[in-house]
Amino acid sequence: MSLSLSHQVASERPVVVPADRQPVERYDAIIIGAGMSGMYQLHCLRKLGLSVRVFEAGDGVGGTWYWNRYPGARFDSESWTYGYSFDDELLQEWEWSEHFAAQPETLRYCNFVADKLDLRRDIAFNCRIVRATYDETENCWEIELGDGGQARAQFLITAIGPLSAPTMPNIPGVDSFRGEAYHTGRWPHQPVSFEGKRVAVVGTGATGVQAITEIAKTAGHLTVFQRTPNYCAPLHNGPIDAGTQRKIKATYAEIFEVCRNSFGCFIHRADPRSALEVSEEVREAFYEKLYSEPGFGIWMGNFRDLLIDEEANATITDFMRRKIRERVKDPQVAEKLIPRNHGFGTRRVPLESGYYEVFNQDNVQLVDVRETPIERITPAGIETSDADYGFDTIIYATGFDAITGAFDRIDIRGAGGLRLKDKWADGPKTYLGLAIAGFPNLMTLVGPHNAATFCNIPRCIEQNVDWVTDLIRYMSENNYERVVPTVDAEEEWTAHVHETVDRLLLSQVDSWMTGINKSLPGKQVRTVMVYAGGAPKYRERCDEVAAAGYEGFELS
Ligand SMILES: Cc1cc2nc3c(=O)[nH]c(=O)nc-3n(C[C@H](O)[C@H](O)[C@H](O)COP(=O)(O)OP(=O)(O)OC[C@H]3O[C@@H](n4cnc5c(N)ncnc54)[C@H](O)[C@@H]3O)c2cc1C
Repeated sequence: MSLSLSHQVASERPVVVPADRQPVERYDAIIIGAGMSGMYQLHCLRKLGLSVRVFEAGDGVGGTWYWNRYPGARFDSESWTYGYSFDDELLQEWEWSEHFAAQPETLRYCNFVADKLDLRRDIAFNCRIVRATYDETENCWEIELGDGGQARAQFLITAIGPLSAPTMPNIPGVDSFRGEAYHTGRWPHQPVSFEGKRVAVVGTGATGVQAITEIAKTAGHLTVFQRTPNYCAPLHNGPIDAGTQRKIKATYAEIFEVCRNSFGCFIHRADPRSALEVSEEVREAFYEKLYSEPGFGIWMGNFRDLLIDEEANATITDFMRRKIRERVKDPQVAEKLIPRNHGFGTRRVPLESGYYEVFNQDNVQLVDVRETPIERITPAGIETSDADYGFDTIIYATGFDAITGAFDRIDIRGAGGLRLKDKWADGPKTYLGLAIAGFPNLMTLVGPHNAATFCNIPRCIEQNVDWVTDLIRYMSENNYERVVPTVDAEEEWTAHVHETVDRLLLSQVDSWMTGINKSLPGKQVRTVMVYAGGAPKYRERCDEVAAAGYEGFELS
């Protein structure tokens, strides 16, 4: 099967075969997932003239913003830095109402884009891909859906999300609970009421922090089960007034240029000073300023050495601990909310809007499960080592099998039947976080070892997608049909990714960024999941590879 850019347009193609073994549909490219990555990749490949089919497990576009409908779900990125930047019409027509939009608005945004670009005609919804097999003879990928349906394409592009495979806690009896139970990442489409109810939230990561703050407003009683506290910083959200809206729209080019040149593609840029070269007064005043400002500034716009030098890190860690003690009235509760096993910024920093004050409310109780572990979920509630708690509703804010989880849930087999899960058994190996040796014509958007996993993600999504699109165009123009990274290039990149992470303090801490998930027996050994050299350096390397005729790839 060869790629032809003058192919008939995808919309003229019939829908994919059902399970009854009709002839298998063929496309130039199959994309898995219709979140921000898959939507933009579809748009770009269609513009190249390719026939493309997107398979999406959900029944709508938006990915993260489709699934995560829990109360309090919203951006930590400034809304106006998160949307797509590639189309001026989209930028000028869409109005964000808040600096950090809530999930319903972001989902509306994704639907607005899908409508404007007429994307839905090439997306098959309610279609989960369970298997993807590379056919050496025909140089194509065959995918299989959960219902047995199949399709084939020359290129397979995964846009399956870094945080899209939810994990339930590894606690006996989870299925026995007779009340309502929800995972935040699979929230129902109908409203859920907590009015007067006895509610449990298990988990205090970024999602738990958002959900707890919101649910505490109406729950009759809320019990928070915390294993690992995090250092949470104030979000300082607010509406975007008309004047600011005009200013944002007039300066999008500058906004995106700032993002482009910052480490994580946020508008926050690290301060060039060391935390240790300034006086205590200057340092304290700087931390106070950052704490009073919106967004990730305190994490991404702080002194340059906070995340690499233990002594520097101790200064901000101490500051954040004092803030928790100031905000939480009961000193014993405050001490439980203070992390002891990591410094500030070495795990994903949750942004909050009154989280600590929730623990001053009479209807809220904190249970530290390191002191009194959860032993089982019972039909009536949760049993810890020292008490039985009865609940009407249990909410699992227990996160995701991050970055590689969505890959592991598909049986992906490359050349010679090599299973991706086996290849990555001791941690991911990739080239540029976009391709894998032994897996020809497979591209992995926002995959492991990609700058996108440490990024204001749509900024990196656009870079990933543009790069993949350019590669496919290059192949077409030069009559190549197959592309695969060499083992040497993959080894060199993987070693480099490890170096970028090793110099950071986060490499010494258990978190999803280091591949740890306490709920998954197979994810107890730290590994390197993210590229931590910064988005500008990553982009530079990708551009160099392309300019050198896709150095490190075998093209044939
Ligand atoms: C609660 C929450 C808040 C977040 N906030 C921010 C933020 O403020 N800023 C930021 O930069 N990032 C944030 N993120 C990260 C977010 O995931 C990215 O910003 C972005 O949405 C990723 O887009 P994506 O298209 O790559 O993946 P996703 O949005 O995860 O989309 C992947 C899609 O692939 C589908 N899929 C997966 N496997 C299969 C399969 N086998 N078959 C078919 N379909 C499949 C899924 O159903 C999903 O729709 C947040 C994540 C979460 C969970």
